[in-house]
Amino acid sequence: MSNFKWVLSGTCPICGKGKVFETKGSLLRLKAPVMHERCSECNYKFDKEPGYFFGAMYISYGMAIAELIAVFLLLNWFIPLGWLFAIMFTVLMLSMFFNYRVSRILWIHIFHE
Ligand SMILES: [Zn+2]
Repeated sequence: MSNFKWVLSGTCPICGKGKVFETKGSLLRLKAPVMHERCSECNYKFDKEPGYFFGAMYISYGMAIAELIAVFLLLNWFIPLGWLFAIMFTVLMLSMFFNYRVSRILWIHIFHE
């Protein structure tokens, strides 16, 4: 695993300079994230082979479940169950792109040459 700061900033696992995703807007923006094919600095190919990111899906599922459990545990005491499910669904939708980005960036950093 490479530099943790590079994971947070979403940069290339090799040089730590090029961005993995196009970075207009913040990490929480609601538009679908677009990944660069290669690092703009060192030309490292992010999407190494077809199916390379398959495992990243599991990370994003895991994140979604963890987020839903956190929301449930936090709000469960104050909010009726029906509302709670509506809120959990909204959180799931809002965090989808965030999870997608973070899981792929993590994946690139864990499994690179
Ligand atoms: Zn690079």
